[in-house]
Amino acid sequence: MSKFWSETVKRTEPYVPGEQLDIPNLLKLNTNENPYPPSPNVVDAIKTELERKLHLYPSPSADQLRESIGAYYNLEASNVFIGNGSDEVLAFSFMAFFESGQKIRFPAVTYSFYPVYAKLFNVPYEEIPLNRDFSIPSEAFFQSEGGVIFPNPNAPTSLYMELETIKDILDNNPDQVVIVDEAYIDFAPGSAVSLINTYDNLLVVQTMSKSRSLAGLRVGFALGNPNLIQALTRIKDSFNSYTIDRLAIAGAESAIRDIEHFKDTTHKIIKTREWITTEMKKRGFYVLPSSTNFIFISHYNYRAEILYTELKNQNILVRHFNKAGIENYLRITIGTDESMHSLLQTLDSIMLKNK
Ligand code: PMP
Repeated sequence: MSKFWSETVKRTEPYVPGEQLDIPNLLKLNTNENPYPPSPNVVDAIKTELERKLHLYPSPSADQLRESIGAYYNLEASNVFIGNGSDEVLAFSFMAFFESGQKIRFPAVTYSFYPVYAKLFNVPYEEIPLNRDFSIPSEAFFQSEGGVIFPNPNAPTSLYMELETIKDILDNNPDQVVIVDEAYIDFAPGSAVSLINTYDNLLVVQTMSKSRSLAGLRVGFALGNPNLIQALTRIKDSFNSYTIDRLAIAGAESAIRDIEHFKDTTHKIIKTREWITTEMKKRGFYVLPSSTNFIFISHYNYRAEILYTELKNQNILVRHFNKAGIENYLRITIGTDESMHSLLQTLDSIMLKNK
C-alpha cells in the first residue's frame, strides 16, 4: 500500500490467472486454450495486413468485423460490440450496466474475474452457492437488485444451463441486465444468442480465444439489443480507444468466415473430451458432464492438490483451485489425442506410486 493509492486501488485484488510457465516440453492444460492452430486463412490475412497496412490506424469501430460477426448469428452490426478479449468486454459491461449501490448476483463457484471487477468498479455483489451437484440454482437469480452475470457453460464446473432456464432468469429480471458469458459455448448444445431479439435485457459475451484458437490475438465480443450495445460503445469511446488493432481485426474476420476449420477443430475437441471422460471414469475419477473444452474431475482416493503437484513435477500443468467446495477438483483442458495419452500415462504412474 502507498499513500498515493486511491481507494479504488486499495480495495482491488488483482486477478491471478493460470500459470504461464515458460518451460520447454511443457504440456499446458491449465488455461483452456485450443490445442489446434487457427485456420491458415487467419495467418494469411494477418500477414497481408502486416505487410501492407501497419502504418495506418485501424477502423475505430471495426464495423466490417461487427457486420461479419452479426451475419454469423443472423444479427446486425448494431447488435455487436467488440473488445480486446472478452475480459475487456466484461469490464465495459460492469461499467455500463451494474450501477453502484445495487447488488448484482453471480454463482459462488464461477469465473474468478467477476469479484475482481465488482471490487474494482465498486459494485456490491452476492455470491449464490451452487446446488450440491454443482448446477446453478436458477431461482436464486430471480428478482436481482442490480443484475446478474454467469457463464454458460459455467467455469470451472463445465456444466451447461438449458435455454429454458435462462429464459426464466431473464423473465424474472425485466429491469436488470443479465449477462451470459459464453466463453465455452461452441462446445455446448446451444447459444442464448437466439434469445436476443426477444429479450432486451440479455447481453451475451463470447470470445475468439477458445473455439477459434485465437487466445493470443485478444478478440472478444458482446451480442445484444442495440440499446445495450450503444451503452458499451459510449463507455469505450470515453476511453478514446480503438476497438481492436488491425491485425486482430483481420485475423478475427478471417476466423469467423472459416466455418469449416472451426467445425472441424471443435468437433475433434468434443470427440477427445468424450473419450478422455470415459478413460478418467475407468480410473475411478468422478467427471462432471462437460459442455466445454475442459473437464472438471475429482478422485475419492487421491487428493487433487497432490495430483496437481506431481503432474507439474512431470511437466504437465493442470489447474487446481484452492477454493472452498472445489479444493479436491482439477480442471484439465482438452488437448490433442496425443497429449491426452501422455496425460493418462503420467497419471497412471502417479496413481500407482501413491496407492
Ligand atoms: N469468461 C470465462 C468464463 C473464461 O473462462 C475466460 C477465459 N479465461 C474469459 C471469459 C476470458 O476470455 P478472453 O479474455 O480470452 O476472451
